[in-house]
Amino acid sequence: MIIQLCGLSGAGKTTLALAVKALAEKKSLRVDVIDGDQYRKTLCKDLGFSREDRTENLKRLTKVAFELAQKGRIAIISAIHPYRDVRMDLKQKYPDQIKTVFVDCPLESLIERDTKGLYKRALLPDNDPDKLRNLTGMGDSFEQPLRPDLHLRTDIHTVEQSAEMLFNYILDQTILNGK
Ligand code: ADP
Repeated sequence: MIIQLCGLSGAGKTTLALAVKALAEKKSLRVDVIDGDQYRKTLCKDLGFSREDRTENLKRLTKVAFELAQKGRIAIISAIHPYRDVRMDLKQKYPDQIKTVFVDCPLESLIERDTKGLYKRALLPDNDPDKLRNLTGMGDSFEQPLRPDLHLRTDIHTVEQSAEMLFNYILDQTILNGK
């Protein structure tokens, strides 16, 4: 199974993916976290943040996830995954493999949270050399999924509650699909 997380920077994708991995280990379920930020330093280091490059980035991450899923592992892709058509195309390319989980947190809460300082940089005046222009949700678009398989609200629920919801969803799917 492949879990295709999507959500703005700081929404909690990596935090939840790692928390679920820890919960899964207690049940001897094998979960791999494919962290977009990490892969941008290796397999995807030639890619930038244009629509085309973001799309290619997600194709590569999904290929890695698919190879792991083929070995019976649960692969969680932690990346912003901003485009609806890309999420849909990848779901069609790997039928019955991918579930979309929307890690949702309103922009106002993210600006307050700003754990990586990215929103502060995006809000700088245009002439500031430190200004970040292509942050998803600010300069770049994020297309919310219309019918995600699971919708998590990390501004309402704690890390523990959100992780449990995601973990229970994965467990249910694993039981349903016999994988
Ligand atoms: P992303 O991978 O989406 O960019 P991170 O997981 O790196 O986000 O950071 C999310 C931040 O938000 C962490 O500091 C985390 O502790 C915090 N946070 C607060 N509430 C939640 C929640 N319910 N779920 C996940 N993260 C949360």
